[in-house]
This record gives sequence, structure tokens and C-alpha cells, in this order.
Amino acid sequence: MQRARRVGALFVAAVGLIVLVGWYTQTTPLTSVVPGLVSMKPTTAVALILLSLSLVFTQRRAGLSLAAVAIALAAVTLVGYGVGSTLGIAEWMPGIDLSGVEPRMAPSTAVAIVLVGGAAIAGTMMRTTVMQVLAYGPLAVSLIALLGYGYGVSSLYTVAGFTSIALHTALGIAILSVAVLLQNPTVGLIGLLRDRGSAGEMTRRFVPFLFIAPVLLGGLRVWSQRQGWFDGWFDVWFDGGSGLAVLIASVTVFGIVLTWLAAVKLRELDGQRDQAMGALAMLNQSLEYAVDDRTKELGEAADKLQTLIKIAPVGIVQLDAGGGLLTANDQWLALSDLTIAESLGDGWAQAIHPDDSARVSTEWGVAVAAGSGYETALRFRTPQGQVNWVQVSTAPIRDEHSCVVTGHLGTVTDITELRNAEARVEHLAFHDPLTNLPNRLLLLDRLHRALLQSAGNGRGVAVFFIDLDRFKFVNDTLGHHCGDAVLTEVGIRLRLNARSTDTVSRIGGDEFVVICPDVCSDRDVNTIADGLQKAIAEPILIGDQIASVDASIGIAFGLGHDGAESLLRDADQAMYLAKDRGRARYEVFDDDLRGRIERRLDTELALRDAVQGGEIETWFQPIVDLQRHTVVATEALARWRRPEKGLVSPAEFITIAEEVGLIQGIGTTVLGQACRAAVSLPGRMAVSVNVSPRQFVQNDFGVIVKRILTETGLPPDQLWLELTESAVLDAIGSAARTFQELRALGVRLAIDDFGTGYSSFMHLKSFTVDLLKIDLTFTRDLERSAQDRAIVEGIVRLGDSLHLDVVAEGIESIGQRDLLMAMGCRYGQGYLFSKPQPDAFPAVDFGELVGA
Ligand code: C2E
Ligand code: MG
Ligand code: MG
Repeated sequence: MQRARRVGALFVAAVGLIVLVGWYTQTTPLTSVVPGLVSMKPTTAVALILLSLSLVFTQRRAGLSLAAVAIALAAVTLVGYGVGSTLGIAEWMPGIDLSGVEPRMAPSTAVAIVLVGGAAIAGTMMRTTVMQVLAYGPLAVSLIALLGYGYGVSSLYTVAGFTSIALHTALGIAILSVAVLLQNPTVGLIGLLRDRGSAGEMTRRFVPFLFIAPVLLGGLRVWSQRQGWFDGWFDVWFDGGSGLAVLIASVTVFGIVLTWLAAVKLRELDGQRDQAMGALAMLNQSLEYAVDDRTKELGEAADKLQTLIKIAPVGIVQLDAGGGLLTANDQWLALSDLTIAESLGDGWAQAIHPDDSARVSTEWGVAVAAGSGYETALRFRTPQGQVNWVQVSTAPIRDEHSCVVTGHLGTVTDITELRNAEARVEHLAFHDPLTNLPNRLLLLDRLHRALLQSAGNGRGVAVFFIDLDRFKFVNDTLGHHCGDAVLTEVGIRLRLNARSTDTVSRIGGDEFVVICPDVCSDRDVNTIADGLQKAIAEPILIGDQIASVDASIGIAFGLGHDGAESLLRDADQAMYLAKDRGRARYEVFDDDLRGRIERRLDTELALRDAVQGGEIETWFQPIVDLQRHTVVATEALARWRRPEKGLVSPAEFITIAEEVGLIQGIGTTVLGQACRAAVSLPGRMAVSVNVSPRQFVQNDFGVIVKRILTETGLPPDQLWLELTESAVLDAIGSAARTFQELRALGVRLAIDDFGTGYSSFMHLKSFTVDLLKIDLTFTRDLERSAQDRAIVEGIVRLGDSLHLDVVAEGIESIGQRDLLMAMGCRYGQGYLFSKPQPDAFPAVDFGELVGA
């Protein structure tokens, strides 16, 4: 655009220069350019050159100066017209011979140059509105002049008879006007022409008419005038030339103004539209951004969900509304052992264990039809036959608007471990961990059921309460692991021996119970009891050791109306009776037994007040030196003077006292009474006091003995304590400290009833005692039984070699005494010398015995 402007301006400058050259050289063709037409005045040529250069120069000040000079030139000319003088313009251009020709440029040319110059200055100073107002004037003037030349109407280029505008002057002014307007091509009509919107479009379409319309109108006016048609008021008011000029000018100006206004309005509308479009575009863009962000967020959320589903420790499946599988994660595949292709649709049902299949299919069908969630625990079975427990939970997915179920989501959790653990816990709750046999809880439940059943079939239920004899000995001597092995083996044997309907259980340390339903007769019971005893009595091989135990069995019968607990208690009581009657045997609970138990309960109650009531007495029986015929000691024996019942022997209350925890009180009372009595005995005679294993394992037993010795003043070596063999065995473990304390005190220790228990030489070696008392059962049959003689002789030898004194109990006859003496037994005790008496120093008539 700027280039076209410069080219136009240079073109005009070149024309001016040619004209000047023409004037200087008096070459008319150069001054008029078009032969026969009016020449351009030299001042006009100079002014046009100055204006052209002002537009070409980029330097602001130079441009302004040149335009100002051109304006001045034209203004002076106008002033000349005004004052009616040439003002010597002819002389301004020395060397040019005007030969009488009017030297001044036409007034219209001068006005046009002033206006173009002013417009150029306004344009340079960025006064665009002024520039436009000024520039359109000369444009109109030059166009009218050009039209005049076109139509041959001189009045259009010769205003009011003044000098005419030359054709090339008019052309130059038109070009320079346009060039000035192009100085700022964004404004005005040029700007509108270049507008890309509807304003530009309208202007571009309309502008040609601004040129064509005057031409057509002018042509029509001229033609009609020449035809003589044009006569009337129009012609009165306007002579031919000025009328045409006014017409053309008014049409042009009116057209330009209208076009301009319309274009400006359009541009405003365009602006509003563009603004709206811009706002819309921005809104659209922000919406797109929002959609992009949302899409991205959704994508990320979907990715996270996928990752979660992938790493979730549970199987996750997606099902359609009808329950057909659509997708599943890897954990599902691992649990079901199906491929995804096999799982699709209803294929997932193949994973379900046949035993659960029908139930799950029905329940799942109901849940799908109701559009509800479903939860269940079921088993999966893999093609390899592996069974897994799973917990299945599903939830329906509903359409947000219609709430119609569109599918289901489900989780499948492996609960095999949990189930196994539950089963283990349940098993442990009802079974004995060592033998895996039912425990007391399960036993009572089974017994209860068996009794209910017996109510229906009229047959009895037999309960065998089994307690192992000598088990403690096995445990203590061979160790607990062997004890466990014995219990396990006994459990196995009992089970092997039992019928499939029987229940074998272990309810405590060495206590087993066998329940046998459908028992009809005593013979049945005896057969079963014999079988159980035989099975248990078989030696048990543990590694390279052999253990052997026996069973004391208590038997009770029950029918439908009996309580399970009481039946078990009856069998327990019968078992105690079997123990009391010598072990390794069985007893049946019957009414006689019930009576004895009641009596025992009665004894127990009465015994509780015995110590406090001073009913415990101590009787004494002498221990004699068989060779020297002297009394060396006296054994303290407890007696209970029971109100209304008289004197009760220890056999009837010591065991009960031990069982119910009263033995400590009785034992301490006897110890105290014995020590007090012994203080007054002649010749440092000792007193021998029986000690129950229950007393011995008491932590403070040593302290009690010491206190009593201190209180009574009895020298410790005058006190003998008779321990049972089981008390000595206890000393291996829990009572070792008491044993040491007693030894340190200096009291003498004896093993009572030696030969009936399980003392081994090992024990005698590790726990030093002073005396062995041979049990009276050996003495009793001494004269008849060679075996007993051998045993007694063995014990005497053992005593000799271990430097222990040996006392034989229960000597009732001279023969027994003599045999014992012959065997080398030094001490004796028995009715032969004296029965137990309340007196601590019973008289023994040795004279009679010596002679015998
Ligand atoms: P033991 O310690 O072996 O006492 C000997 C038992 O044999 C006594 O029975 C005694 O009267 C009896 N006896 C003595 N000589 C003969 C005889 O020639 N023939 C027969 N047939 N028997 C004879 P007792 O007094 O009835 O005592 C029984 C058991 O009671 C005692 O046996 C002892 O183990 C226990 N005992 C007695 N008093 C106490 C006590 O104060 N504390 C503890 N823990 N047990 C005691
Ligand atoms: Mg004794
Ligand atoms: Mg004894």
C-alpha cells in the first residue's frame, strides 16, 4: 500500500518536473502533456513536486516543510485572486517566459493544493479526521475537473471563468489526494475499503458506483441538454457547467457520506459481532479446556481404578444386568483357575464346587431378578481338584436417571486360610491337642446325645472312667515326653478297641472316658472293661524304653432321664473305689457305692471341724531293737475321736483329709503332740511321725518342723519323719528344697511302707535317708511265702550296704521276729511288742519275748 502511495507521488513529481522542463525549454507539448489542452502552470508544477516529495520523504520535518511551502505557494495565488493582482508570480520563476499567459494557477487548483497540503500535514501529525476531511475536497475537485475533460464541459474545469485546471494537474491532485489518504490506510473510506468484514464488503461493492454514477449522471445530463430536452427550472438555477458540477459533487459527496455512514454502522455491528464471536470463541475455548481437563481427570481416574483393580488382593468381576461376566482381573483368574475366555458370560459358574453349585445358582438367580446385591461363602474347585473357600460379594450398578440395574460389580476373596483356621480353632475347642481325642466339652455333648437316643431305644449307655495307674511314675522317671507318648498310645489303643458308635475322650492328665451306647447287660460291661484294661496293660515301647501302666476303671450306667454330668461323676466315683481297692481293676457304680459316697461326704464334713474341735489325738506304738530288747523309738499314729462315733482309725480319714486338703492341719497337730510327748521320753528315745506327701510338698513344711522343734525343745535327732515313697519321688522335683532343709535340721528321715511303691536304688542314692520301714504286707506272709522272705532279705541287705537302719513293721508272731532277726533285721514294730496306745511310752514285756 505504502509502495503504491510512493509510486503515485513520484509519478506526480515526475509529471511536475516534465512540465517545468517544458516551461523552461518552451516546449508546449511538455507543459500541456496532452496536445491541445491547457498547460500546467509552473507554480502548479512546483507545488505538485513539493507535495509529492513531502509524501515521499520519510523524514517528518522535511515532509512538513515541503507541504507548507506548497501550501504557501497556493495560498499566495489565492490571495492574488482575492486582491485582483498576480503579485508578480510571473517573476517568481526566472528563466520562464510565460508570454502573456496567466501566470497564476487556477483558483480551484490553488484551493486543491492548499487542501492536499493541509491534509498531508494533518496526516503526518496523525490528525486523521482532519486529514480525511481535507483530502476528500481536492479529490472531488480533481474528479469534477476530470469529468469536465471527459465530457468536454469546460465549466467543470474552469471555475467562474478563472484559469482552468489542466488535465494532468487534476490527475496529479487526484493521485496526491489518494496518496495522502493512503498515509493512514486504516481509517476513513480507505480503511473501510480494506475492512475484511461486511463494512469493507459493502464499501468495496458501492465505491465503484461513486465513480460510475457521476459519470453516468453527467453523461445523461450532457446528452439530454444536447437533445434540447433539458430546459426548465433546473437549468435556470444551474447553468450547464456548474449545474453538472453540483450534481456530480452532490451525488459523489452524498454517496460517499451515505456509504461512509452505512459502512461505519456496519463496522460497529461487525465490531459487536466480532466481540460476540470473540466472547463466544473464548467461551468455547474455555469449555474445550474444561472438557479436556475433565476428560483427562476421567482418564486418570480410570487409569487409577484399573491399577487398583489389577493390584487388589481380591478377585474383581464386572457382570452385565443378567449376571453374565464381562471382565475380571488376574486375581479372579488365579482363584477360579479359568481363563478369561472360559469365564465370560455364564462360564464363571464352572469354578463353583458341585456341592455349592445348585444353591448358589438359585440364590444368585433370585438376586439378579430382584436387582439386589448378593453375599455368600462358597467353594471353588479347580480342574486339578484343589478346593478353595471364597467369600463373594456383589452390588448392583444402577443407571443414574432411570435407576434400572445395568450390571453388577463383584469381589471374590480367598478365605481358605480363614476357614481352615476356624476349623482348627473349632477342633481345638472340642479336642485334646495331645491325643486328638474329644475333650470334656465334646464328651458331655456326645453323652447327652447318647442318653437322648437311649430314651428312644430303651438300651443303656455305659460310661467308663479310666485313670491310669503308675502314670506319675512314668512321667517322673522317664520324662514328660515319654509320658506324652504313653498317653497318645493309650488313646490310640482305646480307639482301636472301641466300636464305631463309642466315643473315646481324654478329659484330664491321665484320665480317659469311653462312652458306649447300646449296652444291655453286665456281661457286656465286663467284656468291654476287660478289653480296655487289657489294651492299656500291654507294655508300651517308647524308643528303647518300655513303660507299662494299668487302668483303674469306674463304670456308670445311664438311661435317657439321667444327666450327663452326674453320670460322669458317678463313673469318676466308681473309679476312685477301684483305686482304693488296689488299682488295676474296675468297679461299677451302684447304690451301695452311692451309700459309701454319702458316708464319705458325711465324714468329710465332720473332719473339717476335727482339728479346731481338738478331736485329733496321737497314739503311740513302740519300735524295738530286736537284739537288745529295748525300745528305741515310738511311732506317733493319728486317731480321731469323732463325737457320737468314737475312735476312728487313720485308714478311714487320712486319705479323705489328703483329698480335701485337711491333712496339713491334722499332720501339724500330730507332729506337735508327738514332739511334746517325746520330750519326756527316757533315754533320748526318738519319736517317729508320719508325713503325708501333701504335707511334704508344702513350701513351709521345713519351717513348721523347725518351729515345733524350737517350741517343744525336742533335739532334732530325736525326731524321725516317715515319708512315703511318693513323697520321696516328689523330692526329685518340687520338694527338693524341703528335703534339704530337713536334712540340714538334723532330723532323721525314714521311708515308710518300703517295697510297696516304686522307689529305685537310684532314688535312695540321690536322696539320703536314714531308715527303711519294711511294709507289714511282707512281714505278714514271711513264714509262708518264700518270695516275701526273699524281698525282705533283699531290703535288709540293701539297708546294710547303704548303711541304713531297717525296721520291720507288723510283727505279730515270734516266728516272724525270729526270721527277721535271722535275716539281720535290727529293728521291729508290731502287735507282738505293743499295739498302738495313747501313752507315749508303752510298756513292752521283753522278758516274755526273750524267753520265747
Ligand atoms: P503306718 O505308718 O505303716 O503305721 C503302721 C500301721 O500298722 C498302724 O496302723 C499300726 O496300728 C499298724 N500295725 C502295727 N503293728 C501291726 C501288726 O502287728 N499287725 C497289724 N495288722 N497292724 C499293725 P494305723 O495306726 O491304723 O495307721 C495306718 C496308717 O495310717 C499308717 O501306716 C500311716 O500310714 C497312716 N497314719 C497314721 N497316723 C498318721 C499321721 O499322723 N499322719 C499321716 N500322714 N499318716 C498317718
Ligand atoms: Mg508309719
Ligand atoms: Mg507302715
